[in-house]
Amino acid sequence: MSKKYDAIVIGAGQAGPSLAKRLSAAGMSIAVIERHLFGGTCVNTGCIPTKAMVASAYAAHLARRAADFGVAVNGHVSVDMKRVKARKDAISDSSRIGVEKMLRGLPHCDVYTAHARFRAAHEVEVSGQALSADRIFLNVGARAFVPPMPGLDAIQFLTNSSMMALDTLPEHLVIIGGSYVGLEFGQMFRRFGSEVTIVEMGARLVGREDPEISSAIQDVLATEGINFRLNAQCIRVSGRAGAITAHVDCGDGSPLVEGTHLLLAVGRRPNTDDLGLEAAGVSRDERGFVTVNDRLETDVPGIWALGECNGKGAFTHTAYNDFEIVASNLLDGATRAVSDRIPAYGLYIDPPLGRAGLTEAEARRRGHTILVGRRPMTRVGRAIEKGETNGLMKIVVDAQSREVLGAAVFGTGGDEAIHCVLDTMYAKAPYPVLQRAVHIHPTVSELIPTILGELAPPAS
Ligand SMILES: Cc1cc2nc3c(=O)[nH]c(=O)nc-3n(C[C@H](O)[C@H](O)[C@H](O)COP(=O)(O)OP(=O)(O)OC[C@H]3O[C@@H](n4cnc5c(N)ncnc54)[C@H](O)[C@@H]3O)c2cc1C
Repeated sequence: MSKKYDAIVIGAGQAGPSLAKRLSAAGMSIAVIERHLFGGTCVNTGCIPTKAMVASAYAAHLARRAADFGVAVNGHVSVDMKRVKARKDAISDSSRIGVEKMLRGLPHCDVYTAHARFRAAHEVEVSGQALSADRIFLNVGARAFVPPMPGLDAIQFLTNSSMMALDTLPEHLVIIGGSYVGLEFGQMFRRFGSEVTIVEMGARLVGREDPEISSAIQDVLATEGINFRLNAQCIRVSGRAGAITAHVDCGDGSPLVEGTHLLLAVGRRPNTDDLGLEAAGVSRDERGFVTVNDRLETDVPGIWALGECNGKGAFTHTAYNDFEIVASNLLDGATRAVSDRIPAYGLYIDPPLGRAGLTEAEARRRGHTILVGRRPMTRVGRAIEKGETNGLMKIVVDAQSREVLGAAVFGTGGDEAIHCVLDTMYAKAPYPVLQRAVHIHPTVSELIPTILGELAPPAS
């Protein structure tokens, strides 16, 4: 005999808890099932703890640069990893506890702390108990992808999750993967005092960005002393605790990259392989993501998939937006769709990269006739005053419609400044609207209208 609810939410990540709150407020009885840590990746092993650690790394960096600002730091700047971890843990813990407390306080909501698996389309098993509901919402997220690489089973390696337990400094951290996760950990550990080598099989870092952005990022990180092995595919690892070797297939350079610790940052895999989706008749794509339509409905009526497990976004803000779409359509009679969303994200190295919409390369591929504006951060007053002039800003506009297609702000405050471009895109306003806006001085954003006044066709 199964226990019947109006709705079951599997996974308490970035969409499930907010959805449970709305369903509860609508008077529904709900079961929320979480097998590990409330708040999921963002709260425990992703955004929140990494940004807390990035802040510690920034403090160390600024302390070393204190003399540039006329400030004397007497003595060697050192980093206490135990205190860095304790600070990070306190921030994560508070968020995790808050999520759990909120869920446990919801009216007509039962919280189960166990793994959930489908028995049938509308029936789920939790610790041997059957629960059923007409509406089931999957918010099961993703985990670090561990490739089937020879040697991995014989060494100790790190992922974004196990990095969270480190309270000592690796002497030499080798990172496989030169994209967002690898670069954030790379720069922070370099600033904490580790030697860092990043191994990337592609020809450049963060290959989805325009080449000038990739190269500006590499310049910043190389200046801080990070080593790079590009065009180098890790094919095998070997070693023992404290002495690991990545064997790389490369055109030039040594085929061996040696270090004391190895971090795998080569992508994510959805947590859909042990969910009993076959018993429910819910289909997945070839990479394991739950197949959903524009309203995040799976191919089984009454089952939705939200957040990273649906492959429609790999960010906290996209997971939260999934909650908004599903809740509005279900409870408010709205017709919101995931395709209304404009891609946007941040890369939290220092300076940060704020991104919205298409890159120049994507805009060209889609056949747009484009105008491009750019400005180095050396010509941004706010950056000069802060002594942080690394990076550049770039905006891509459709020459015919005059709508903004995309932008990259790689520079101090870039994660915030990008939003004026993003909001203009959501408003579908022609770029002169933003060009004529009067922004506050001195800010990074005040140069965005200026850039739009200097648009030109790209070189080729
Ligand atoms: C190092 C790192 C840094 C990041 N930084 C950022 C950032 O700065 N900004 C940003 O927007 N995004 C960032 N992300 C991505 C972001 O963390 C994720 O996209 C986001 O957390 C996904 O949310 P979600 O709700 O889809 O899943 P999750 O947050 O992963 O939650 C899924 C939950 O489901 C539970 N679960 C899974 N299977 C079951 C089951 N069968 N039964 C019961 N429970 C189950 C899991 O335990 C988990 O708690 C980062 C990710 C990483 C790895």
